[in-house]
Amino acid sequence: MLTDTHCHLDDEQFQDDLNAVIDRAKAVDIGFILDPGVNAETSRRAIEISETYEIVYAAVGYHPSDCVDFDAARHIPMIRQWAEHPKVLAIGEIGLDYYYDDGAPRDVQKRVFETQVGLAGELGLPIIVHDRDAHGDALAIVKANLNQEASGVFHCYGGSVEMTRELLDMGLYLGFDGPLTFKNARKAPDVVAYAPADRLLIETDSPYMAPVPLRGRRNESSYIVHIAAKMAEYKNISVDDMIRITTENANRLFRFDTACAS
Ligand SMILES: [Zn+2]
Ligand SMILES: [Zn+2]
Repeated sequence: MLTDTHCHLDDEQFQDDLNAVIDRAKAVDIGFILDPGVNAETSRRAIEISETYEIVYAAVGYHPSDCVDFDAARHIPMIRQWAEHPKVLAIGEIGLDYYYDDGAPRDVQKRVFETQVGLAGELGLPIIVHDRDAHGDALAIVKANLNQEASGVFHCYGGSVEMTRELLDMGLYLGFDGPLTFKNARKAPDVVAYAPADRLLIETDSPYMAPVPLRGRRNESSYIVHIAAKMAEYKNISVDDMIRITTENANRLFRFDTACAS
């Protein structure tokens, strides 16, 4: 069974054919899709979708690109309330994005990220971290604010082997997406080779970043087989083992197999 631990099914690009997208995911044996919200609207929508489709679960939180108007007094209680839902398995996606100059000011991004990392620890939920061109600050904030029992993933991971060592020491996981399959992939193949297999996750970040050979199309969960195959190649193990191990990892981190039992 495959897992897609990062897929924006709530995106409007899926609104006309969501049933078909889920059916194609099931057809390639995906048993678990995690849809992370990026603000109030998408967090609510992710929960709604998780109520409709058995294989879909949700994460809730405020993305760095959506945090300009974040007001802790108003939004933290909202996140707490969403987190009580049995299919909400994580806080995310949260983090820092320094790629866009016109995004939220860095001090605002940092404050909102810190607050949500702390909240996740309090709620006993893992974090899904978005870190784009902000490696040093993202690492420092997670180090300072993540409590010891908490865990999480740096999704669409783009850090160096040195940074990887620090994340592994903290018990964190690394998520890889379509760019792992690109010819110009630089750091990611080395990091995949370096990191223990039991800390790797595969994700699509659909509808963005479709893997080779489907690059340029709208991405969807069923395309994840191409990412699994490339990761297996860099890890020098069979694709079947790669799929089994990444699913075990996803389940260890997000506990989706017990999420609806209660
Ligand atoms: Zn992201
Ligand atoms: Zn994302």
